[in-house]
Amino acid sequence: MKLRVLVDPDLCIGAASCVTIMPETFQMNGENKAFVLDHGKEPGGSSYERWIEVSDAEKETVILAAQSCPTLAVFIFDEAGVQLYPEL
Ligand code: SF4
Repeated sequence: MKLRVLVDPDLCIGAASCVTIMPETFQMNGENKAFVLDHGKEPGGSSYERWIEVSDAEKETVILAAQSCPTLAVFIFDEAGVQLYPEL
């Protein structure tokens, strides 16, 4: 399945817990903000938002990474545009 993963750089405080949990999806940039990778790659360059193809296990891990964020800066949407996290 595909997920849209988005980091709001205005909310990100650089705590890096998302990076610790899922470094193939989250890395820190020079401004100490997390950006989103596709399995360790950055097609089209660094981006705070990306569609990534994930397995069921990867989906669980990306949600865990989002849950670890102290400022709820990571947003996850499914293919239908439903916000999976933070839950509304
Ligand atoms: S856990 Fe949240 S605050 Fe920390 S780097 Fe990731 S997005 Fe930013």
